[in-house]
Amino acid sequence: MTCEALFRSDSYLSICDATVTAITEDGAILLDRSIFYPTGGGQPGDCGWLELPNGERLELAATRKDRDSGDNLHIPAEGQSLDALSEGLSVVCHLDWANRYAHMRLHTALHLLSVALPYPVTGGQIGKEEARLDFNIPDPNFTKEEVTQKLIDMIEADHAVSELWISDEDLDAQPDLVKTMSVQPPRGAGKVRLIAIGDIDLQPCGGTHVGTTLEIGAIEVSKIENKGKQNRRVRIRFVGDDTL
Ligand SMILES: [Zn+2]
Repeated sequence: MTCEALFRSDSYLSICDATVTAITEDGAILLDRSIFYPTGGGQPGDCGWLELPNGERLELAATRKDRDSGDNLHIPAEGQSLDALSEGLSVVCHLDWANRYAHMRLHTALHLLSVALPYPVTGGQIGKEEARLDFNIPDPNFTKEEVTQKLIDMIEADHAVSELWISDEDLDAQPDLVKTMSVQPPRGAGKVRLIAIGDIDLQPCGGTHVGTTLEIGAIEVSKIENKGKQNRRVRIRFVGDDTL
């Protein structure tokens, strides 16, 4: 049975009930439903903990997809005992929310960065305090202050972030929607998930985002690095956020 990805329809869920469906030979835990995002698309997998019926707390160090089955693997932190776990056990999932919320804010900010710099994206990575996108830019002629100001304007415009689904055929008919060449759009069951930010951005994405751009808060472009003839790595980070 495949894990129901609750984080996809509601990225703000930080707690949920679930049932253990399997424990792999390597000690990874499979659940029937989950709020833990698995590593993918440049966004790190979530950590958190499982509350067991006996009151024990089982710490999760990471979440990732199984290469073969595509199911979500919940990876216990080192030294955690799995003795009290069994197939069919009811658990309560608790997300490390501070970590995830930072990912959601920076992930959404990267969508805006791809609007501020409308060039092909060749790579990207999201962290807790900073994130980056790599662009293929033939003729870079902007400063980090100019890009920062464009981001601030879009954040302060308080654009709503929403999801919609289209068929694989519709996506194939609109190849311009795909900005990131290094990440395949999240396809499944013949449909693709698109993330819309107001009327300024629309692109396929399987990650987690905030509900409006205002939630991103204060960020800046911290560095623009030259990574080759046409390749520019643009880094963004939070400014003056003491909750991190
Ligand atoms: Zn996204």
